[in-house]
Amino acid sequence: MIPEKRPENIIGNYHTHTSRCHHAYGEDREFVEAAIQAGYASLGFSDHTPWPYRTGHVSGVRMLPEELDGYIASVKDLREHYRDSIRIHLGLEVEYLPEYLDWMHEMRDRGIEYFIMGQHTLGSEENEIYTARACVEDDAVLRYADICCEGIRSGLFSYICHPDLFMDRRRDEDFSPACMEAADRIVQACQEMHIPLEYNLLGVLSHVEDNPRGYPSRAFWDYVSRYDVPVIIGVDAHEPYHLTHPQTRKIAEDRIRELGMKLITRLPMDDDM
Ligand SMILES: [Zn+2]
Ligand SMILES: [Zn+2]
Repeated sequence: MIPEKRPENIIGNYHTHTSRCHHAYGEDREFVEAAIQAGYASLGFSDHTPWPYRTGHVSGVRMLPEELDGYIASVKDLREHYRDSIRIHLGLEVEYLPEYLDWMHEMRDRGIEYFIMGQHTLGSEENEIYTARACVEDDAVLRYADICCEGIRSGLFSYICHPDLFMDRRRDEDFSPACMEAADRIVQACQEMHIPLEYNLLGVLSHVEDNPRGYPSRAFWDYVSRYDVPVIIGVDAHEPYHLTHPQTRKIAEDRIRELGMKLITRLPMDDDM
């Protein structure tokens, strides 16, 4: 049964990690229990996707390809176990890598319901540095935008995570004309494909906890507020308490309201809720 006193503004969170990515903590079921406690009606797991790297590269920030079956089984078990309390979706947070698109199709066939795009590296992690480090240069910002746009237009993604990731190592005053151009391109692609931009709560939490990341970027969001594009809040939970944090969601909702942007609370797969 869905808790009776569920707040109206909280329906789904589709950005949730598990400890398999080596930088998230807690048992899978603890994330579900935290989501129920926070009042969510729907929780999507979207751990950092594994990639079958052709170079033999082993990532330290995502599950290994051989862990995918265990991830799928665990999420499906939790879906059954908690079916009377919360709806659970099986997803992945994925970089758009044209050279590995066959893997995304394979993952769909294996039961992954949805992908959200988190472009943490401009190309494959095998030969690219962290997006935010590259994006201190304007030409990398434009490259980031073009990759995001290609990914968005592929139709594979339900939304784009922290679209302002390119601002992570920049301050508001570093929001250059190239950043404006990047923001324009990304938002226009989202509008065209009818997908939302994510307002990222892990970034909000980093400010609350006084270890601030460059996103959500005030300059980016001020700039994109001129567009009629929906915004979705993503908890980007790397620990169960991120879902129940008493302040972050409220801070994000207030900011989105202040910007005059449209907040959506669910993805189409939960339209019946
Ligand atoms: Zn992560
Ligand atoms: Zn994430």
